[in-house]
Amino acid sequence: MKDFMYSYPTKVYFGDGAAKKALQKELAGTGKTIMLAYGGGSVKKNGVYDEISRYLKEAGKDIVDFSGIMPNPTYKKVQEGAALAREKGVSFILALGGGSVIDCCKIIAAQAVTEKDIWKMEFEDHVYPTEYLPMGAVVTASGTGAEMNNGAVITNEDTNQKAGVLGAHANFAILDVGYTMSLPAKQVISGAFDTLSHSMETYLGSPRDINLSDEIGEAVMRNVIRNIRVLLKDMNNKEARTELMWASAMAENGILKIGKVTDFQAHQIEHQLGAYTDCNHGQGLAVIHPVLYRHMYKDGVKQFARLAEKVWEVPAEGKTQEELAEAGVQALADFVKEIGLPSTFTEMGLTDQSVLQKVADTCNLTAGCCKKFTREEILQILVECWE
Ligand SMILES: [Zn+2]
Repeated sequence: MKDFMYSYPTKVYFGDGAAKKALQKELAGTGKTIMLAYGGGSVKKNGVYDEISRYLKEAGKDIVDFSGIMPNPTYKKVQEGAALAREKGVSFILALGGGSVIDCCKIIAAQAVTEKDIWKMEFEDHVYPTEYLPMGAVVTASGTGAEMNNGAVITNEDTNQKAGVLGAHANFAILDVGYTMSLPAKQVISGAFDTLSHSMETYLGSPRDINLSDEIGEAVMRNVIRNIRVLLKDMNNKEARTELMWASAMAENGILKIGKVTDFQAHQIEHQLGAYTDCNHGQGLAVIHPVLYRHMYKDGVKQFARLAEKVWEVPAEGKTQEELAEAGVQALADFVKEIGLPSTFTEMGLTDQSVLQKVADTCNLTAGCCKKFTREEILQILVECWE
């Protein structure tokens, strides 16, 4: 295990009625003008927007609406939000949504208090923001774990990059599974797969000797797999949805990453695929993971074998470590099919194969991955993902 410092800035209010409790307590000391940020309007249809607005009004706050945050939020949208926050004198941002809305707000919170361009600051000058408008997150779609960290995935349309940008941590996160129950089944499953992906990508980072972070990670992964299977039989099973909501936060609140350098190679490939195609994040990951891992497992046999045995419950008896590792990758591929996620880019509906070269040329190659991939190998993986 590597040396580490652990502290956590985000308070979590979890369960039925969490929003009322949280907003009463947490907004008492903030200014009067709250930006309520959300996406395409599903929160207006399912009543969550009205409920949250009511709590804000009861607390004597004025609301500045900021809507239309898209999946794969753009840097342009960040700028629009930051300009609005400045213009209206916003003192607190409340993100109402899933990962896209929360991520967009993390960077709005940083951009609203500086004249400097955040993208240029981070990617050219390698300087990171330290001041933010305070923000909170009301989670209406789980899976990304965005509510519990300060990383945001933002698409810069000018540079064709979908990249991790660092912004604000939410001061508090509200996780009430009741706010997620109207989500389409497909979105719930792809969100849960994203949680599984975050856990696997952390687990397969380095060091790969047995350690507490990985053993907790194994528990999170088993939990996610089990609860997805419960949902396949009963999508409205509240207990399973609740477990998945916490698992999503657990995968991204730093606990599993303690003492580790994460892998996240699958995410890096998916991010660039998303930058060029605007595809669904969980679906992209579902296609990429098994193909990537077939190219990777021989370089991390011990950890892949452990993953197979402890998480996929592949019997070890009679198998070499390499056979066990390979069987685990197959179990993951089978699971993707079992839960109805796509196994190829064509199944995802992608039509323009020319993006593969662009993705291979531009995706980050990660330091925590057990294999040092070349761009030719990444292209080969992407071609195998096609069909
Ligand atoms: Zn993700």
